[in-house]
Amino acid sequence: MRQALRSSALVPRGFVVDSATSDDTGLVIAVRSVSSASTCPDCGTTSKRIHSRYRRRLADLPMAGRPVRLVVLARRFHCDAVLCGRHIFVERFDRDVLAPRARRTARLDHIVHHLGLALGGRPAASFARRLMLPVSNDTLLRVVRRHGSPLFVPPTVVGIDDWAWRRNQRYGTIICDLERRRTIALLPDREPATAQGWLSDQPQIEVVARDRGGGYALAAAKALPRATQVADRWHLIENASRAFLDAVRKSMRQIRGAIGAATINPKLLTAAERIQYEGYLRREDANAIILGLAKNQVAIKEIVRRIGHSRGVVRKVLRGQRSDVFRVRESSLEAHLQWLDEQWAAGHRNGSELWRRLKGQGFRGCARVVSEWASRRRRAEKADGTLNRALSSRTLARLMTIGRDGLSRAESVTVAAIESGVPLLVEAREIIASFQAMVRQKSLADLEPWLERARPSLVASFANGVVKDKAAVSAAITSPWSNGQTEGQITKLKLVKRQMYGRGKLDLLQARVIGAV
Ligand SMILES: [Zn+2]
Repeated sequence: MRQALRSSALVPRGFVVDSATSDDTGLVIAVRSVSSASTCPDCGTTSKRIHSRYRRRLADLPMAGRPVRLVVLARRFHCDAVLCGRHIFVERFDRDVLAPRARRTARLDHIVHHLGLALGGRPAASFARRLMLPVSNDTLLRVVRRHGSPLFVPPTVVGIDDWAWRRNQRYGTIICDLERRRTIALLPDREPATAQGWLSDQPQIEVVARDRGGGYALAAAKALPRATQVADRWHLIENASRAFLDAVRKSMRQIRGAIGAATINPKLLTAAERIQYEGYLRREDANAIILGLAKNQVAIKEIVRRIGHSRGVVRKVLRGQRSDVFRVRESSLEAHLQWLDEQWAAGHRNGSELWRRLKGQGFRGCARVVSEWASRRRRAEKADGTLNRALSSRTLARLMTIGRDGLSRAESVTVAAIESGVPLLVEAREIIASFQAMVRQKSLADLEPWLERARPSLVASFANGVVKDKAAVSAAITSPWSNGQTEGQITKLKLVKRQMYGRGKLDLLQARVIGAV
């Protein structure tokens, strides 16, 4: 039903408009209460006997894009109750319309509060200016603080984690109600005692999700001995990946050996080997031509005629039998390599000196063999650093876990070399993958066999950690609760903290993070 707009519909409930004027700064609306009486705040008696009148100036919601100031003609009343100590009182309005001593109407205050919650001080203040809301940065923060937190609902399932006030410097603790998906507390530090104090006030808590290790496990055990602790799944999977990285780090020496066997760096070769290597490259070129011709159905006889190689060589190439880099021959040093390694490690690195001492042990070879061995060792050691830089353990761990389809040809060769050269690492990778699968698929029955398999492996220390925290890890596999959403709340907290530009006092953070519904 269509109705004429009455001016009282534009102002807060319970007021009528006396006059409306406009100036450069906005609209000024004079109002007064429709009620003829008011109630004494001390004794509750209603009085109609007016003592005097005065004006209250208030900010209200903007109208048609212009700021609005309300001028309320308020009254003072006599209290006539015999036993009331108060003789005069000022007119009261409904709190949801106009609070005592307020400088804003309740409806404006409500908007200011939510703007502050959503955006924080300064960003909210500049947005408020756009909306023609007359509030400063400080006012916004004050309103957020004043409204405080909504009613606290005692939680039964909580997630607890730490968060950084300042990166690597100061930490606090965040506690989330995982059922209601909300932050319910920020503690000023991450001391177990502080967390324990908070948790022990909430004896109804049944489940505590927390990361592995750290003080929260202990705090929860002391404060809530009957509650189930759940290790955080996200951290479990992360820790497992880290365990594999550690295994790669431990195996770097073997890995370098395995990669070195598969790739040839000409700089590492001795003069004699380089000549062989160049021959190898020439052979490879010829091989490619021969194979190309054969693929185009050119007869062997014709290939022999064109290339100039013997029939026997062409046959060998076609059978894939001519791809060795070096002529295979038994080194005369073979029997002495262990002794040489020991001498090398002990710092005896002069080739001719080593040769003289080897001769004393019955070595029949010439000095050149030994000095070439020594110079190769030297080059290999120098190259160690560059090899390291080219393929860090982190990169290798990644290459080994992303699956063949994601690898370049060179990377595939590297990974294949590692897999055949360092089988323990392949085992470790399988163990870690099956742990992560177990967590994701929630198959608790696999935990015991997994531990059996992991204990003697390269990731044994990770397995030991799992054993120490077995109840919580089991709960992580079976329970529906995880700290995943706590991570999300921390992200939100960081955002709020950043918006406060160093005004991130705990109560204010709390008001904004917890108060935001
Ligand atoms: Zn009274």
